[in-house]
Amino acid sequence: ELKKNTTIIVLGASGDLAKKKTFPALFGLHRNNFLPQDCKIVGYARTKMDGKEYLSRVKSYIKTPTKEMEEQLETFLKKCSYVSGQYDQDESFMRLREHLDDLEAGRPENHRIFYMALPPSVFTTVSQHLKKNCYPDRGIARLIVEKPFGKDLQSSRDLQKSLEPDWKEEEIFRIDHYLGKEMVKNLLILRFGNEFFGATWNRNHIDNIQITFKEPFGTEGRGGYFDDFGIIRDVMQNHLLQVLTIIGMERPISFSAEDIRDEKVRVLRGIPAIEPKNVIIGQYGKSLDGSKPGYLDDDTVPKDSRCPTFCALAVYIKNERWDGVPFILKAGKALNEQKTEIRIQFKDVTSGIFKDIPRNELVIRVQPNESVYIKMNSKLPGLSMQTAVTELDLTYRRRFSDLKIPEAYEALILDALKGDHSNFVRDDELDASWRIFTPLLHYLDENKEIIPMEYPYGSRGPAVLDDFTASYGYKFNDLGGYQWPVQSSAPHKL
Ligand code: NAP
Ligand code: NAP
Repeated sequence: ELKKNTTIIVLGASGDLAKKKTFPALFGLHRNNFLPQDCKIVGYARTKMDGKEYLSRVKSYIKTPTKEMEEQLETFLKKCSYVSGQYDQDESFMRLREHLDDLEAGRPENHRIFYMALPPSVFTTVSQHLKKNCYPDRGIARLIVEKPFGKDLQSSRDLQKSLEPDWKEEEIFRIDHYLGKEMVKNLLILRFGNEFFGATWNRNHIDNIQITFKEPFGTEGRGGYFDDFGIIRDVMQNHLLQVLTIIGMERPISFSAEDIRDEKVRVLRGIPAIEPKNVIIGQYGKSLDGSKPGYLDDDTVPKDSRCPTFCALAVYIKNERWDGVPFILKAGKALNEQKTEIRIQFKDVTSGIFKDIPRNELVIRVQPNESVYIKMNSKLPGLSMQTAVTELDLTYRRRFSDLKIPEAYEALILDALKGDHSNFVRDDELDASWRIFTPLLHYLDENKEIIPMEYPYGSRGPAVLDDFTASYGYKFNDLGGYQWPVQSSAPHKL
């Protein structure tokens, strides 16, 4: 439940995340009446601003297309205030504490949610100073932490250890925003709420699974941060592995946070470290027409960078359900389209009566345009017995036309306010996920002679990609092709 007398403190309130995600999400919660009653929101960062300047800045972060939203924004701003201070000085945090005490004066409780929208270099020092100077004396404390949680197993453990003396695991909320996405949350319902999916969800029926993240743009002058991480750390070890975990895990005993997270850890422990022979990496070059720059043309990227902007790799789960089924993770920047999808390809049907009949695929589109569809063989209407690939289709926009899909950050901040850990990453889960990726990451870091394959900006990835997925059993059906009919909004007339 939501606690009255709660203050949310956004550390790094002047930054990009706060602007793009945190404040818009807080506003979304405010206008839907999901913030605790009398909730206060305090921004903290080094940038010096007076109250007025700060509020006009917060205002500029939030879009208000309607008059009603404009009014809601005004009431939202009444909750907001700002303290400027350093990240490593007691004196600064004491001033933050005084400000909080003033806001909370007269309240029987003072619950404080600290949201660290900060670069990882200051995570530790800020968390220590918060504990020392701003920990509530008559309420609960929660600490929301953003990725990256380290760069490998060791640095992730070091970060954990630095938080441990001050913050209990139950106080820490590690955000992986994929866990806040509507379609990722729907995976549990699809799997465990439908007998026909549940029954076929195993190595006897599924041939291979692809989990794909594609972005249609490159680093565009912001490559400095990316170059230190690369696509594997940026989206695969966290977001795509989370999706894999939920697809792969066994049925939890309940939907409670610890029951779910116990099952996630169990399946992660059944995944051996990724072997370099099951990996291809790429880096984008100029687009074929020369209009878009290559990765190395970005001035913020070292000219000799070997950083992968694309990767495809196969992961195996060594258990009775999944032994031998490849989970192919693919992620890339500067590709031909934007999408995140899960594509589950079933095995061939028994041969004999059919020749070359395509495999069923269950596709779960996480973004954009959320949908779930099954590519299904059907008789082509007419006098012959010809078959055609058709679809069973659940497109959210059509099926739930009057419901708004919440932003991932809205859902996650609300969970943190309620104290629900289901959609946050537990410490042992983080450890298990780094164990799967760290040997590969070290191998790539240590073998600088490995040159990522170049692919043109705007393509589907390196030329070998389709051979790579085919080598793990994926059969692409190009016999006649599958055409997605252009949707018309007008209903069919009989
Ligand atoms: P950011 O804009 O670079 O930093 C946030 C604030 O921290 C800045 O406004 C700045 O505030 C302060 N800061 C920046 N560099 C600093 C430094 N070297 N030392 C001390 N303070 C510094 O970062 P962000 O993009 O908001 O990201 C914050 C966290 O969220 C990071 O961990 C990031 O990985 C994660 N994240 C970001 C996004 C995103 O879309 N941006 C998405 C997912 C996760 P002052 O100078 O005013 O103190
Ligand atoms: P698709 O876009 O044809 O892609 C199918 C898979 O084949 C992807 O994994 C793709 O890889 C791969 N692939 C593409 N070209 C290939 C090639 N030449 N060789 C080997 N592999 C190749 O997907 P689809 O499911 O058949 O759907 C077709 C279109 O219909 C899509 O645009 C889809 O969005 C649309 N559709 C929409 C809905 C809906 O909105 N509800 C429902 C059904 C279909 P990459 O992902 O790496 O490119």
